[in-house]
Amino acid sequence: MLYNELPTQWQRIFELEWESLCMGSKAIAAVITDENGGIISEARNMTGESHIPNPKTAHAETEAVRNLDIDCYPNKWNYTLYSGLEPCVMCMGTLVMGGIRKVEIAARDDFGGAIDLLTANDFLKNKNVQVVWHGELLGDIQRGLQTMRELLFNTDRDKLGRMLKDFSVYNKRGVDAAIKLVDDGFFDGKQPAYYTAEEAVNEILNIISD
Ligand SMILES: [Zn+2]
Repeated sequence: MLYNELPTQWQRIFELEWESLCMGSKAIAAVITDENGGIISEARNMTGESHIPNPKTAHAETEAVRNLDIDCYPNKWNYTLYSGLEPCVMCMGTLVMGGIRKVEIAARDDFGGAIDLLTANDFLKNKNVQVVWHGELLGDIQRGLQTMRELLFNTDRDKLGRMLKDFSVYNKRGVDAAIKLVDDGFFDGKQPAYYTAEEAVNEILNIISD
């Protein structure tokens, strides 16, 4: 499997995630597609960027819902939100209130994910949100990119260790691939922006398929 063989919406998500990583934010992104599968909204995590007010709330899924032009695209109940990572409580609330009724997710997140709320809360239960979990490979790419981000920018070694442990619960292959890549000198003397998302994802895929 290569980056350019991934479905278009996932290529775009990983491209946005790479942009976030290059900006020092979390490698998380989301897109919304219409009934025909065309991308009609998108956003990336911007929590590490100080040029926006209150960046800690700048999560990808929340911003993708807020960026959706409902005058041009009013059939929100028919749209699908794709997210690299399981949405958190804030994003879950925002996407439901934004009328999204189908979510496709690459990586599970027992630490911060809130998909459980869809069945635990009566209000949310009544919205009948459909959730599709993707196979291991997309989750491995997702967690691989997040691992690269933390290895590059997280200076709190204890917290880093805890995060990589969390990332590894479902996607150890992706985490290990990113660690190997960084250990082997992928970034030596280079800024992440030196590489494209396609190059980074293909390196992860190469290691995984070995
Ligand atoms: Zn969120």
